[in-house]
Amino acid sequence: MADQVESQISIDVPSVLVERLSELGASILIRCPGEWGSRDTYIRPNELAGYLSDPEELVARHLGVTRTEFLAWQDEGFSVQCAARTKRGKRCRGVVTGGSHVPAKIWVQMQGGFCVAHEDGLPQPGQKALR
Ligand SMILES: [Zn+2]
Repeated sequence: MADQVESQISIDVPSVLVERLSELGASILIRCPGEWGSRDTYIRPNELAGYLSDPEELVARHLGVTRTEFLAWQDEGFSVQCAARTKRGKRCRGVVTGGSHVPAKIWVQMQGGFCVAHEDGLPQPGQKALR
């Protein structure tokens, strides 16, 4: 949450600039880190002020996810981490089957999935703990 406050700054974009860019039919290309190195997103001139104030929020919205999900997607290397817990209680570091280098929206949808080693799910009471 602290990073959200720090990154939000108010920047005035002259309305004459936004209007002229809109008249010209301009789009602004935003390049951010993505599942295959980088991901391009086009924003409209009237979104420029919002982008300058909080780039992550705007790009996240364009990708159909929340800002928090967008940042987590990047933090986890654009791949979905297995939801299983090891015997020691740590989260498995495996990648969910089919969840390697996926777009942000898919990344969100695949949360809670399991890697190849844990596809059979979490152990039931009385069952041996997962490796
Ligand atoms: Zn796993």
